[in-house]
Amino acid sequence: MNTVSSLLDKDWHERYKRIAKLNIRSSIYDVTNRCNLRCKGCFFFSSNEHIAAQEEMDIKKWEEFIDHEKERGVNLAILIGGEPTLCMDRVEAFYKRIPSYCATNGLIKVDRNKFPDMMVGISLWGGGEDEKILRGRDTFAISSKNYAGDHYAYYLYTITPRQVGKIEPVIKRIVDVGLKVHLQLLSNDEGVDGFSWKESELKDLRLEMDEVLDKYPQTLISSKYYHEVITTGKMLGRSFGWMECPSVTEALDNRKPQPRRLIHFVRWASDLKTVHRCCTSATRDCSTCKDGAAHMSWIMVSKRAHVSSTKDLQNWIEVYEMFAKLYSLIPW
Ligand code: SF4
Ligand code: SF4
Repeated sequence: MNTVSSLLDKDWHERYKRIAKLNIRSSIYDVTNRCNLRCKGCFFFSSNEHIAAQEEMDIKKWEEFIDHEKERGVNLAILIGGEPTLCMDRVEAFYKRIPSYCATNGLIKVDRNKFPDMMVGISLWGGGEDEKILRGRDTFAISSKNYAGDHYAYYLYTITPRQVGKIEPVIKRIVDVGLKVHLQLLSNDEGVDGFSWKESELKDLRLEMDEVLDKYPQTLISSKYYHEVITTGKMLGRSFGWMECPSVTEALDNRKPQPRRLIHFVRWASDLKTVHRCCTSATRDCSTCKDGAAHMSWIMVSKRAHVSSTKDLQNWIEVYEMFAKLYSLIPW
């Protein structure tokens, strides 16, 4: 029978041991229902999650809630919205209590005196022209000024079908401001014309993602196995979708049989009572879901399936390391 020890040499085994002890218990929090942008295809607004609950305005309630989340065992708070930086007091309440990660569009700078080591993921939807079409402005022009050279910030580059063949110039812009980048794919939740994926585009994109990873290994936080899984929607012969997704809120998870899932995972709305179905759009058709974090988590909860060959297990380790770096659980 294959075991972790029998499949890995000394170096890989050390890498395995480093991540095996992490014991991640994450949950996701809508810090606010508001945003200073309105991107076409934003899952939050397109699924009406911004009106699913009324925002709690009392900071004391937030503090009590976060204390309770900590008692519940959460050791990684992923702050999204809306735009979390519109409510810095809430972000601070999380940061003081639980290791926290803040997803932002980067238009407002997180004060590094207050949040010296909070990992910040800055959303980016392509080159300047695509950003203008989808988000109304070239956010990079502002976010890159706010975060150039910041050791605890990286770009979360959402690739659209129109970006295929054009990724490298975007990566170069990021290299030039001394930041790192993680790639993910747009799920076209609002059906914007020309932004839905075709099989051939996904095939080309996979090759292109591999190429930029080879060329910019210090800048991309990625792995070829992740590229394979996110572009094909397949992992070890299984297909991603509702019956496989690990990122479903525990209280709403009535699937039978129960797939392997993130332990005690909840996505909380900003009233601190309502929960959303999963880590992304409540109304998305799961068969079209390209959510990067859900795909990464799918791989991560499937360790046993990867203890089948050295290559499969190394693939699993690389994806786990990638996740751990993105959330500042291990160094770059
Ligand atoms: S910046 Fe983020 S939360 Fe705001 S509209 Fe765009 S995708 Fe949605
Ligand atoms: S939309 Fe995506 S993340 Fe949400 S339950 Fe479906 S597959 Fe999972």
